[in-house]
Amino acid sequence: MINADELLEKMNPNQKINYDRLLQKMIQTWQTQTIRPKILLHSCCAPCSTYTLEYLNQFADITIYFANSNIHPRSEYLRREQVQKDFIRDFNAKNNTNIQFLSAPYEPNQFVKMVQEKHLVDEPEGGKRCSACFQMRLDLVAKKAQELAFDYFGSALTLSPKKNSQVINSIGIEIQKIFSVNYLPSDFKKNNGYKRSVELCKEYNVYRQCYCGCLFAAQKQGISLKDVNKEATAFLNSSHQ
Ligand code: SF4
Ligand code: SF4
Repeated sequence: MINADELLEKMNPNQKINYDRLLQKMIQTWQTQTIRPKILLHSCCAPCSTYTLEYLNQFADITIYFANSNIHPRSEYLRREQVQKDFIRDFNAKNNTNIQFLSAPYEPNQFVKMVQEKHLVDEPEGGKRCSACFQMRLDLVAKKAQELAFDYFGSALTLSPKKNSQVINSIGIEIQKIFSVNYLPSDFKKNNGYKRSVELCKEYNVYRQCYCGCLFAAQKQGISLKDVNKEATAFLNSSHQ
């Protein structure tokens, strides 16, 4: 199974890495070898998974891994998990696909402890706390992918224009060195990926959250967590219990 490092070796080391090009080359190799790999793909709510699944499903068998102990409060975590599951169910029904879903245990204390121990509470969104947050979640995805013998692990987050895909990809490429599973490089926002995700969110009536997920960013943004909890609880009570 082709590994990103093999492709990176052939690229100019002085140029910024184009992770979308890397993914295209990887897909071309699968097609030449008539391989349909198994990918465990991290996602933290449905929007980033929409276009990503539509695109990747053409070439690979995908399981979404919901590993997001960063999300606060618990009701919002459950809401995003449910919305993700609903999207996969609806997408499979409409497109006759077989995308699977798995979730990790919700351990918010582990995330808060990590942020406090690394003194990252006051970091701005997009700073070092976010890198540590990506690292924590991608580590879990790689571990699970190795355990279940997936060919690749990756993340749908590179679809988001608010997330630094250079950082996410370089973390993934580092993590693959310690697991026996390949990292899937990506920059899903490219090729109108983000635009298509907005269309798909409308088409499937997907909930779009108003903050990234953690308590720290929500507080900085002035989000009322009381309101978030109220709305998430109402959602869970009305449609899914
Ligand atoms: S990056 Fe934001 S929009 Fe994308 S899946 Fe995560 S929380 Fe949702
Ligand atoms: S802002 Fe988002 S990516 Fe950054 S630490 Fe919080 S939940 Fe994680």
